[in-house]
Amino acid sequence: MLMKIRISIFVVFFLFSCATFRDTYPVCNFPEHSPFPGGVINKNLYIRSSQTPEISVEGKSVYLCQVDKNLWKALIPISLINQKNFVEIYHNEHRILNVPIATRDYRESKITINNQDMVSPPAEYLPRIKKESELSFEAINTNSNTFLSSLKMSKPVEGFKSSEFGVRRFINNQPRNRHTGLDLAASSGTEIRAPLSGKVVLIGNFYYKGNTVFLDHGGGLISTYSHMSKVLVQNHDLITKNQIIGKVGQTGRVTGSHLHWQTVLSGIPVDPELFLEEPL
Ligand SMILES: [Zn+2]
Repeated sequence: MLMKIRISIFVVFFLFSCATFRDTYPVCNFPEHSPFPGGVINKNLYIRSSQTPEISVEGKSVYLCQVDKNLWKALIPISLINQKNFVEIYHNEHRILNVPIATRDYRESKITINNQDMVSPPAEYLPRIKKESELSFEAINTNSNTFLSSLKMSKPVEGFKSSEFGVRRFINNQPRNRHTGLDLAASSGTEIRAPLSGKVVLIGNFYYKGNTVFLDHGGGLISTYSHMSKVLVQNHDLITKNQIIGKVGQTGRVTGSHLHWQTVLSGIPVDPELFLEEPL
């Protein structure tokens, strides 16, 4: 009798398992679809494939997360200087989607810097600046083969937005590069926390950026933290979300104490606000 009950329970459990069995997929919590320069494309792609498909835009592979059988969520950066009306998405050699790109107005900002060395660096600093630019380029193009399914970030510092991403900047009335980060003003010494887990891929004291940490979050997503007064991590450290990585300061070219925060996808800076769990 006991044996019969055991067999019945096993049969019921087996049938229940069969009925409910299916592959489970992550939620793939990406930034909202923001199809404008400095934004990101977030599109679901239906592709019949048992393996991760080869999706690319302009020859660069795309961040993918599988949301269901044959369904993949793709995250694609749009450069601030993009002038095309659409982005073409390829699967292997075949174009599978054209995504229309809208325009977005970015404001102008005019600042005055009296330290002439920071406006036009003396010739002896140029080799240092060139070397730092090469190191930065290499770090923001890191492409480690790990992928997070949630790219939603916490706010890295308790501070207020002092300059948004994308601003067209003029220093002493001369046009300069666009502002490719978000500035959060806070007093010197305020803790900076990693908004997402990652790995430290570069630390340096840069001429313009001051003390800076580069974090690799996998799949071509890098974030950077500049002008720190203190760096509290080391190169190659694995960092958990909300771990303290340093303190706000005013090292490098600054007009006051703040964090310059960048988010870079496939080597292209995009608006960090798009990644925040809660709006600023
Ligand atoms: Zn900045």
